[in-house]
Amino acid sequence: MLKRIIAILLVVIFVFGIFPVLISWADYLKKEPAYEFVVDGEVWFTVADRKALEEMIDEYQRQFLANVDPHAAIKKISFAQDVQLVPTEVRKDQLDSLAYARERIYAVENEAVEITIKKGDNFWSLARAYNLTVADLEILNPDVDPHRIYPGEKLVISPFNPVLDVLIELENTVVETVPFTIQYQKNNSMFSHEKQIVRSGVEGEKEVVYHITLRNGYQDTLEAIKETTLKEPVNAIVRIGTRTTVSRGGRVNYGVVQGKRISSAYGWRIHPITGQKRFHEGLDIAANPGNAVYAYTDGRVIEAGWNGGYGLCILVDHGNGLRTRYAHLSRIDVRAGQKIKVGQRIGAVGSTGNSTGPHLHFEVIKNGKTQNPLNYL
Ligand SMILES: [Zn+2]
Repeated sequence: MLKRIIAILLVVIFVFGIFPVLISWADYLKKEPAYEFVVDGEVWFTVADRKALEEMIDEYQRQFLANVDPHAAIKKISFAQDVQLVPTEVRKDQLDSLAYARERIYAVENEAVEITIKKGDNFWSLARAYNLTVADLEILNPDVDPHRIYPGEKLVISPFNPVLDVLIELENTVVETVPFTIQYQKNNSMFSHEKQIVRSGVEGEKEVVYHITLRNGYQDTLEAIKETTLKEPVNAIVRIGTRTTVSRGGRVNYGVVQGKRISSAYGWRIHPITGQKRFHEGLDIAANPGNAVYAYTDGRVIEAGWNGGYGLCILVDHGNGLRTRYAHLSRIDVRAGQKIKVGQRIGAVGSTGNSTGPHLHFEVIKNGKTQNPLNYL
């Protein structure tokens, strides 16, 4: 009887004890299909759910599209590193959690470094202070208009740098203005400084296709790969007097300043990456700091002094609803209320206010509305 009970007990122990242990042991040893996430030959983690992992990678990469124009065509998204999903088979306890996978994918080497804009700062002075170029600052802050920065706003001076670098290749098509040129007709029956617009200029339009590569969301390369003229510009024809010629020297004489070139035209500009539209109310003429700035024509000074983003700035009234503004000056030689003559020196070129480098920002205002200064020079 006792033997029987013992025998039954042994069977019970085997069935309810050892047998499940054996089954779970077999289960433990069983291998399941999984995927190794391999970066430059090194296995970072192993997970079973391929779909969840692919979604996580996709989400990680797409965060760098946040600033990109929604109309842009995304050509390719990839990692700078060699990243592979390698099929494998592992025991359950060798699998890593998706939370761990996320931690590794989203790892950061350096967070972005930001500074707060103080009164009097501009892109030019900040770039110099942080050993960057103005172009670097613009790339780091694509959503910031360098001509419209205000104290208290933040600017990135060192980029967000993740461990896994994301490369994005895209194409964007934007319409840009084509500036017109001015043809001068010399006329010896008119005095110099006398000007007569024979024909106003009209700006043209072109469609430009940009090929852009981004690294972690920041512009790496930007190249115009195709330009199609939509509308040819119409050149302005201006008759100028030659009786007593005043030569102010310099490479190009824009009348109000000796400049190097027009660095930014009047009108709309579309950022090729963000697609943001910005309006430029004046004409920027790149010039050496300290170069004299001359009055456009006879008039009376309305304002002369610091004016926010314009920096040191002069506003002149010429009568008949015509006013001109001269901004980002390094010095001012006139006072408000003062009467001035055409060609009179009123100040000097600088980079004060929201400026990206030494230039004269010249505005022409007719009856309260800005005009294309090229039609007035
Ligand atoms: Zn300007």
